[in-house]
Amino acid sequence: MVALYQPMLKPAGAGAMTDPFGRAIRYLRVSVTDRCDFRCLYCMTEETTFLPRRDLLTLEELDRLCTLFIGLGVRRLRITGGEPLVRRGVMTLFRALGRHLESGALEELTLTTNGSQLARHAAGLAAIGVRRVNVSLDSLDPARFRALTRRGDLAQVLEGIAAARAAGLKVKINAVALKGLNEDEIEPLMVWAHGEGHDLTLIETMPMGEVDGDRTDHYLPLDQVRARLAARYRLEDIAHRTGGPARYVRVAETGGRLGFITPMTHNFCEACNRVRLTCTGTLYMCLGQEDAADLRTPLRHSEGDEAVRAAIVAAIARKPKGHDFVIARNARPAVGRPMSLTGG
Ligand code: SAM
Ligand code: SF4
Repeated sequence: MVALYQPMLKPAGAGAMTDPFGRAIRYLRVSVTDRCDFRCLYCMTEETTFLPRRDLLTLEELDRLCTLFIGLGVRRLRITGGEPLVRRGVMTLFRALGRHLESGALEELTLTTNGSQLARHAAGLAAIGVRRVNVSLDSLDPARFRALTRRGDLAQVLEGIAAARAAGLKVKINAVALKGLNEDEIEPLMVWAHGEGHDLTLIETMPMGEVDGDRTDHYLPLDQVRARLAARYRLEDIAHRTGGPARYVRVAETGGRLGFITPMTHNFCEACNRVRLTCTGTLYMCLGQEDAADLRTPLRHSEGDEAVRAAIVAAIARKPKGHDFVIARNARPAVGRPMSLTGG
């Protein structure tokens, strides 16, 4: 059971932490585990090993850190991983964090999931106050889905998505666009997602962590995808934003929204309002840079909150301007850690 941790919270709308470039930090992504029941080709190797459980923050510690961030002006919290829904007791953490929605201190609590465990958790998430969920889905072909995830069962994920919808959650589908692997499915994925009433966001593969093979082989710039779609559909730029880095168009023929996350071809860092906390209590101020702050030590070695709060504020004060992702043949990944550790 997560003991509810209640420090003094500033009321919603109070000043946010601001980084050296004047960006207000309102958005925290928390990776609650590096473990996953899938091994997506672009995210992990077949032999990926996971952190020993003793290195992980407890659910109480995660709650305490999230609560401190909310006190420092964070208004949106996304729980991610690894696969967040495989962390034992994760619903206890969601329930504990739900109190910040009730109090109004937090505007939004969401998650990113591979959907494998969503069927059994969707109703519980909705009851806590989660309103939308991002589900990653790179193919609608069962055999290809299994090959891309090395483990996944498409039917189980589709069941999870249906359960989320039945529970009243808004579902956004995220798909990584992969040359030679799913590029022929992008249009069918879009038509399916829009037909089901879901937004679809496409993501460029980023050079994070080791994968089997060369990432360059499957890197697909999204301006190519957009040009191909634009030849068949009318794509209208719209101002819709969800707090993340996606830029959206409305597809006139389907009536649905299509987002593009283009870290490689169009840097989106100027509006970055996010920081990321790993399951070991390391705070990354940028997805694509190595600089980080250890919050676990001050968290575990001080009774009060002052040392942790000071460590957070000091870290935000050195948030870098942006990432320097480059994909080149045989190049080392831009950062050694995989997305599953940092939290996508
Ligand atoms: N397991 C959950 C899932 O797959 O939704 C949450 C964590 S996963 C790391 C979050 C997102 O990151 C997923 O949409 C996944 O496709 C994406 N991702 C993982 N590795 C990536 C990479 N190297 N480049 C781009 N996106 C990546
Ligand atoms: Fe797991 Fe998500 Fe990484 Fe796929 S992308 S291996 S589902 S953490």
